[in-house]
Amino acid sequence: MTAGVRPTVSEYAELLAKYTDPDTCPTDALEPLPLIEEPAFVSWQQDIPRAYLEMSPEELDRRISAARGVLGKKLVVLGHHYQRDEVIKYADFTGDSFKLARLAADQEGVEFVLFCGVHFMAEAADILTEENVKVILPNMAAGCSMADMADPDAVYAAWDVITEMLEGSGSKVIPITYMNSTASLKAFTGERDGIVCTSSNASKTFDYAFERGDKIFFFPDQHLGRNTGFARGIPLDQMVVWNYRLPNGGLTKEQVERAKVILWQGHCSTHQRFTVQQIEKARKEHPGVNVIVHPECRWEVVQAAGQNGSTEKIIKTVSDAPKGSTWAIGTEINLVNRLAQQNPDKTVFCLDPVVCPCSTMYRIHPAYIAWVLEGLVHGHVLNQVKVDAATRKWSLVALERMLALP
Ligand code: SF4
Repeated sequence: MTAGVRPTVSEYAELLAKYTDPDTCPTDALEPLPLIEEPAFVSWQQDIPRAYLEMSPEELDRRISAARGVLGKKLVVLGHHYQRDEVIKYADFTGDSFKLARLAADQEGVEFVLFCGVHFMAEAADILTEENVKVILPNMAAGCSMADMADPDAVYAAWDVITEMLEGSGSKVIPITYMNSTASLKAFTGERDGIVCTSSNASKTFDYAFERGDKIFFFPDQHLGRNTGFARGIPLDQMVVWNYRLPNGGLTKEQVERAKVILWQGHCSTHQRFTVQQIEKARKEHPGVNVIVHPECRWEVVQAAGQNGSTEKIIKTVSDAPKGSTWAIGTEINLVNRLAQQNPDKTVFCLDPVVCPCSTMYRIHPAYIAWVLEGLVHGHVLNQVKVDAATRKWSLVALERMLALP
């Protein structure tokens, strides 16, 4: 193989045929492998030079360490909890999207932020850092299927219909967008008295909204919105779902007028895998087991679990739990595996028996990290995520409202 030469179209086609069996999880091998051997690689960013595809984990480790040594304090590496171990080991800081947003905002004197997470997180980091800081996403194909469910044009159109339906009623709707959304939706929210939320602070953003209006338009994750509203005492029948595939969201004027919360019909593919049956099975097989799930899980799963919270809360709850306790967890597998390793005095396992990580988080591989860092060493900024000035202005407003919450 020649360094710098990319695989041919037919080689990709061969890989694609090999790894697109719909009955298998394309990311079920969690062992470190050269990128070319990663089963799901074919659907990732493919303009990476071939040399990087074939490097062994040891070679990539050596090259990443050398590049970091050259870049020194000019570079900070942020890693989301759902990243695999062979990526998270390079992170200067780890956290959920809320903690990483704060960390990005707090950085001083760095030139480059390497964001090992997904696209909307890198956008938020770009918005929150100084103009001269360059935010880099190792693999531009690392998106979020939930964020993709809220197409900005569809959200704008829904807003117009909702405000039209409520005209003359005296109601005021406040938009809340989950962090897992495009920068343009954050800007849309900022321009309309709205706010960004994360799973750590969703309830506080409901306080913010109900101090300014009497209804919330919540997107893109219906489950986080419903779970948050229900925990605050809003009945399920006052939280309606806006089905963006149907005219008027599939709702009548009366339904919209009666609703306290209008939920966008989006979800997280990773967290929707968890079921009440899995919880019942865990309780049967492990009497006394504690169950904690992420609030992106369905309402009935959150109710059955008894405890729910952001990844930061899950980590703290399990870490602070008594020795010998048993924990069944409903969140992404890389985080659960890491928690199990970090708590050898407890039994920690994932509720879902099929080991399937978030497929887009999984697109960050050390080969991409080596590629973009060596680019920086040679003066080339690869995979920069840059939000345009107009979008940045209003999305910053919405993000700063969130960061200012008590
Ligand atoms: S875990 Fe779900 S919400 Fe988070 S990045 Fe993956 S698809 Fe998106």
